[in-house]
Amino acid sequence: MADVLNYINGEFVPSSSGATIDNINPATGATIGTVPASNSNDVDAATKAALDALPEWKATSFEQRIEWLHAIADALEAQSETIIALEMEDTGKPITLATNVDAYRSVANFRFFADHGKQLPELRYDMENATNFVHRKPIGVVGLITPWNLPLYLLSWKVAPALLMGNTIVAKPSEMTPQTATFLAKVLGEIGLPKGVFNVVHGLGPDAGQAIIEHPDIQGISFTGGTATGKIVAATAAPMFKKLSLELGGKNATIVLDDAPLDEMMKSIVRASFANSGQICLCGSRIFIPESRYDEFASSFTWHVEKLIVGNPHHERTNMGSLISIEHRDKVESYIELAIEEGGHILTGGTSSQHPVPDVPEGSAFLRPTVIGGLEATSRCAIEEIFGPVVTLHTYTNEDELLDMVNGTPYGLAGSIWTGDKERGHQLATKVETGILWVNTWLHRDLRTPFGGVKNSGVGREGGDWSLNFFSELLNVCIHE
Ligand code: NDP
Repeated sequence: MADVLNYINGEFVPSSSGATIDNINPATGATIGTVPASNSNDVDAATKAALDALPEWKATSFEQRIEWLHAIADALEAQSETIIALEMEDTGKPITLATNVDAYRSVANFRFFADHGKQLPELRYDMENATNFVHRKPIGVVGLITPWNLPLYLLSWKVAPALLMGNTIVAKPSEMTPQTATFLAKVLGEIGLPKGVFNVVHGLGPDAGQAIIEHPDIQGISFTGGTATGKIVAATAAPMFKKLSLELGGKNATIVLDDAPLDEMMKSIVRASFANSGQICLCGSRIFIPESRYDEFASSFTWHVEKLIVGNPHHERTNMGSLISIEHRDKVESYIELAIEEGGHILTGGTSSQHPVPDVPEGSAFLRPTVIGGLEATSRCAIEEIFGPVVTLHTYTNEDELLDMVNGTPYGLAGSIWTGDKERGHQLATKVETGILWVNTWLHRDLRTPFGGVKNSGVGREGGDWSLNFFSELLNVCIHE
C-alpha cells in the first residue's frame, strides 16, 4: 500500500481531519493506497506556507529560477522509471504511453520553460521624451488544479512557468491520480527547493479544489478539467477578480479530405482517436469523411482499430490500457447505449458487458475501442464530450456542410485535417472554430505555441510566452527624459 500525503511547508502530512479516500488501480481493481481527503483547513495551511515562502522566492533572480527548473528536470529524468510506474498504477495506461508521453513530457516541460525563459525579451518602449519599461512580477500564490488523464504532464505544464515567474504554489491533482504530484513534491524536497514554494493538497474537487478557488490569498487559478467544473471555478473566482486560466473539454473533429492518402495516414488517424483510450482532451472523437470515400474509410479504419491491443498495461505491445475508473467507464458506456437509441450502429467494439476485453482482472475498467456509424452530426453522441474510446463517423458532400457539422458543437479545442494538399488543409483550418488544428499530423507539439480552446473549451492560452504572461503581472514604468 502506498499511502500518499499532503505536502505542506516541506513536510508530508495527513489531512487535518485524518479522512482519506481509497486510491484504486483501474487496471486491476485493487486498492493501492489512500489519499488525504483534505478540506479548507488543509488549504489554509498550504496557502499560509506559500505566502510565507513568497518573499524569498520572488527575490531570487530569474537566472536562479531557470537553474531550479533545470535541476528539477534533471532530478525527474533520473527517476523516470518511478514516474512511469506510478502513472501506470494510478491510471491503468500502457507502459509505452507512460514512458513516451507522461514521463518524457513532464521532464520536457521543465526543460522547455527553463530554456524559453532565457529568451524572454526585455519589454521597453521608447517615446520621444520618455521610456517605458515593462516589468514582469509574480502574481503571488497560485492555485493549480489538474485532471487525471495526464497527471504529472499537465501539472508540470503549470508548475514550471509558475515557478519561473516567481510564484509560490498550492496544487491539487485529481484524487484519482495523486501519486506523481506527491512524487514531484518529494523530488523538489530532495533537491532543496525552499519550503513552502510548492505545496500539494489532495482531496475531492468540491472540498479541497473549491477551497483553493475561494481562498482570498490565492490570487491566480490555473485550472485544467471538464467544462462543467470550469463553470463552477469561473463563477467562484471571477467576482474575486482572480487571474484565471481555464483549459476545458473538447469534442474534436478529425476531417478527412477527398484527396487524403488514407493508406499512409490511417495509423495516425487511429492514434488521434484512441491514444490513452480516448482520454486526451485533444483526441479526435468525430470523424468527417467525404461521402464518396465513406465505405473505403470505414472498412480500413475499423480494420486498424480491431488490430489495437487492449489489455495488460505492462506489455510493451499494448496500445490501450484501462479507463480511469469503473464509474467513468459506466459514463462512456452510457453514450454507447445512447448512440443506439439515437439511430447509430456499432462498427466495432461496444459495451464491456456485451463485448468484454478478454483476460483482464475482475473489477478492472477496460473497454474496447468503439466505432459508431449512422449518427446525425447533431446527435448528442456527436457533439457532447465522451472522453473515452468512442468515435463517431459522419459523411459530408461539400465544404459548407462539413463546416456546419464541424463547428456545430459547443466545444472548440483542437482538431486535425488529413489531405494530400497541405495548402488546402491550411486554408480549411482557418475556417474551423477551434484553438488548435493539425494538418496531416496530431499531437505534434511545439511548446512555444499557444495551447487552448475557444467556446466551451476554455479561456486563455498556455504554452511559451502565453504561460509566462499568465503567471506574471505586468508593471509599466514610464520615465520622463
Ligand atoms: P474535472 O473537471 O472533474 O476535474 C478536474 C480537477 O478539478 C480535478 O482535480 C477535480 O478534483 C477538480 N475539481 C472538481 N470540482 C472542483 C471544484 N468545485 N472546484 C475546484 N476544483 C474542482 O475533470 P476530470 O478530472 O474528469 O478530467 C477530464 C476533463 O478534463 C475532460 O473534460 C477533459 O477534456 C479535460 N481536459 C482538458 C484539457 C485541456 O487542456 N483543455 C487537458 C486534459 C483534460 P476531483 O478529481 O477530486 O473531482
